[in-house]
Amino acid sequence: MQWLTSLSNRLKINRLASTVIDSLWQANCPLCKRSTDRILCKDCDRQISACQSPEFLQVDYPISPDLPLYSWGIYDGALKRAIAACKYGNHPAIMEAIAEKIATTWKRSPHRKALIQNHKKLSVIPIPLHANKLKSRGFNQAEILARRFCELIALPCHPQLLQRVKDTKAQMQTKSITEREQNLSHAFTVPLQHRSPQTNPRSVILVDDIYTTGATIREAIATLAHSNLIVRAVIVISRPQFQK
Ligand SMILES: [Zn+2]
Repeated sequence: MQWLTSLSNRLKINRLASTVIDSLWQANCPLCKRSTDRILCKDCDRQISACQSPEFLQVDYPISPDLPLYSWGIYDGALKRAIAACKYGNHPAIMEAIAEKIATTWKRSPHRKALIQNHKKLSVIPIPLHANKLKSRGFNQAEILARRFCELIALPCHPQLLQRVKDTKAQMQTKSITEREQNLSHAFTVPLQHRSPQTNPRSVILVDDIYTTGATIREAIATLAHSNLIVRAVIVISRPQFQK
């Protein structure tokens, strides 16, 4: 946008032409449909920022006592609507806007330095979608989130390290813990060429959009561990409130 403005200034394009150029770059906010020159309009952006959780590090350590879960926001209100609009309304760019918020929070996090210092060659892996779902949705929201996040925090993103080989039901459709576990059992795999030797394990951060029961995350962690890819932290956009 800025380069277009400076180009039009340099070429002394008249006001009408500038307006035409501007209007080409105006899109509608995917959440409220108002015109905006950014991904989200200021108002929706503010509403999403208001969903930020007071604590980024989840102090109840719901995955395991030695594995930190970072959740940027509370899965409710504008943030919940934004995630749904992204996934079911075909607006992948919303994930980029949210990734920018998470990156800002991560850069300020006191735990970030220690994680990076203690684990050399740290990389980021998004929770993958099964090929069928990827085909119907057209994108993996966790991958878009992870890629933009990695660009901003200068860590490598390696979506190819983890694949989803089982077309599981949505976890919310499963009725019992046993059904949930069976649903996810062997859901993931690490392609042979990406497996690390036991003598040289690699450290990774897992990224996903929502943390609910943690069953998906746990299954992914176990699969990665079998291939000596050790998850050192999990970062998600959001987690429902009061779920302890
Ligand atoms: Zn809006």
